[in-house]
Amino acid sequence: MTKTFEIAVFEGDGIGPEIMAPTVDILKNIASHSNSYAFNFNTLPAGAAHYAKTGESLPETSLAGARKADAILLSAMGLPDVRYPDGTEISPQIELRKAFGLFAGVRPVRLSAGQASPLNLPEGREIDFVLIRESTEGLFYSQGRGEVSEDEATETLRITRDVSEKLFRFAFDLAATRKKNGRGPGRVTCVDKANVFRAFAFFREIFDDISHSHPDLIADHAYVDATALWMVQKPWEFDVLVTENMFGDILSDLGAGLMGGLGLAPSADIGLQQAVFQPCHGSAPDIAGRGVANPHAMILSAAMMLDWLAVKHDNAAMAQDGRRLREAVEDVVARADSLTRDLGGVAGTKEAADAVLRLLKRE
Ligand code: NAD
Repeated sequence: MTKTFEIAVFEGDGIGPEIMAPTVDILKNIASHSNSYAFNFNTLPAGAAHYAKTGESLPETSLAGARKADAILLSAMGLPDVRYPDGTEISPQIELRKAFGLFAGVRPVRLSAGQASPLNLPEGREIDFVLIRESTEGLFYSQGRGEVSEDEATETLRITRDVSEKLFRFAFDLAATRKKNGRGPGRVTCVDKANVFRAFAFFREIFDDISHSHPDLIADHAYVDATALWMVQKPWEFDVLVTENMFGDILSDLGAGLMGGLGLAPSADIGLQQAVFQPCHGSAPDIAGRGVANPHAMILSAAMMLDWLAVKHDNAAMAQDGRRLREAVEDVVARADSLTRDLGGVAGTKEAADAVLRLLKRE
């Protein structure tokens, strides 16, 4: 029997609509060949351009539509020139994380054979790790509530036992799944700054407690500054990294850099019920409207959506399609087929996405 999944779509700002359109086309094409699942896409307004027009950044109806969807696809939101009166930017993607408790920001960092990278990988070395960024608290807790006076500014970092426990359980479960699938040794590294801040000593203590329920996995620690160094010097040693919101925000761009750029970096913000799938990059206003944005991070995020829905609904065909889609992107990138400018090519958004679709149709 065919199950229809409701997908909430936030096209967002800047390059958002340009990379979302071909991604939805690809998902429609994949689903059209399945007799076990189908998609119904529901586009919802939100973002900086919507705020500029209406004074609302994330309308209640959009939030409600996203809440009842089976999964949420989001491109990127925010425009540097559109701001709230307090000077901060419109960022409904962060509001969604908080509203739905999407504590696990999953950012895979993979460098497959043939893919260009600023690193000169030693022979036989591959990069395949996952950075999990806590996405609802940490230093982002005080977003919009920081205190600023004439001579002083204060923001508050908050770490709770409840969210940290869920986060670490998620990280160990992911490492166990990866190990079962032959990817990684089953290691979880807690990335913190426990040598300086009590809040991070607390974070680490909770990590250690949760690690005791997983004697079959390796649990270790690293300071965030050293982690930045090792991500460049020996990234092949990492398996699953788990860290606080702001540290994860910064390290995930470093991870994207290892893969050759933000245009190849997908992500998922996952909670106990809902999940948002979106690229790591922003709305790229510098190239918006020109049809040159790289769609691959968005397409890879859609592949993560297929993976997540497949596990949640025990749908083997969808799991296989998620894998096929990811491998199709990896393949076109490795063969330098229709690369966009950020990857050294000359292709436009449509051409790059068409290369993926062509490969899927040929299989
Ligand atoms: P950005 O990620 O939008 O762009 C950084 C650089 O990477 C730019 O040179 C851009 O052209 C390039 N780039 C990004 N995505 C690309 C793609 N798919 N193809 C080719 N090149 C790409 O970061 P920024 O310039 O710091 O932010 C722009 C806006 O996006 C800001 O308003 C910011 O707040 C917002 N933002 C949103 C999110 C999100 O929605 N999750 C994340 C980061 C930034």
